[in-house]
Amino acid sequence: MDNAERLFEFPHRHLLGIEGLTPVEITALLDHSETYVEQNRQTNKKKSVLSGRTIINLFYEDSTRTRTSFELAGKRLGGDVINMSVSTSSVKKGETLIDTAMTLNAMHPDVLVVRHPDSGSVKLLSEKVNCAVINGGDGAHEHPTQALLDALTIRRRIGHIQGLRIAICGDILHSRVARSNIHLLTTMGARVRLIAPKTLIPTDVERMGVEVFNDMKAGLEDCDIVMMLRLQKERMNGNYLPSVREYFHFFGLDYGKLSVANPNALIMHPGPMNRGVEIDSEVADDFGRSAIHEQVEMGVAVRMAVLEILTANLDQPAPRNL
Ligand code: ASP
Repeated sequence: MDNAERLFEFPHRHLLGIEGLTPVEITALLDHSETYVEQNRQTNKKKSVLSGRTIINLFYEDSTRTRTSFELAGKRLGGDVINMSVSTSSVKKGETLIDTAMTLNAMHPDVLVVRHPDSGSVKLLSEKVNCAVINGGDGAHEHPTQALLDALTIRRRIGHIQGLRIAICGDILHSRVARSNIHLLTTMGARVRLIAPKTLIPTDVERMGVEVFNDMKAGLEDCDIVMMLRLQKERMNGNYLPSVREYFHFFGLDYGKLSVANPNALIMHPGPMNRGVEIDSEVADDFGRSAIHEQVEMGVAVRMAVLEILTANLDQPAPRNL
């Protein structure tokens, strides 16, 4: 299949979430990302497919991996990338998200990558602008490129996603990573388990086709993948846990709890990691089993693929969802 055919398999103007994407669309994004994994390992990483294109990163929340990798992805494809620093912008003077977006829109960017603390805000913004919009994380709602890079990591390590037993552990309630991963992994046929204290599990989450456990050893039994999540303190109002020490005792991933999983189980974490809180250092640094750095590497490739596909779609004569 050539690139033109593949691009057409993702007929969307924006990437706002994983919910609603089909297995074919997810596979098209992952397949196209593979090309860039190889290219990023070469001495010359530069292409010109985004030559003439402008990408603006608009981040209202802190970020290391997502912002940097979107910047690298845009630059490696030959685009012009601008990072808007919200702390030094007119946002500080009281400008609303939509007014800021409309201002940027007037400068004719091709892509806006937006991270915002409010769930749904990125979709709202996408309805007001002419360019493609990528959700870089909206509140506790979705973080689609994280789920794609996790899926690419799993696919490259294990060869498939279908049928795998995957545990997502920790602060599910406040995690957009969990939500996007649940959508992607269930759509691709994995069996997803959520493991967390009762206070950190959303009500009715079973409706998303997952199994819920409140005990690590019960939930981790025979799992092929163990995904750990950070406690999202910035989204908590009030106390969800008696203490961090107790949390680590019951829910922190260490070799004791891991012993019931598949002996080759892959350990994943979207970062940033809080060592000694949700994961023990020894496990995080276990080079044979931890895929944490590989996830970061896949992040650049996935974001290159998404940027290329969405900008190519800008030139298409409006198929299905454009
Ligand atoms: N980096 C991920 C996010 O932005 C996970 C985290 O912050 O814990 O959602």
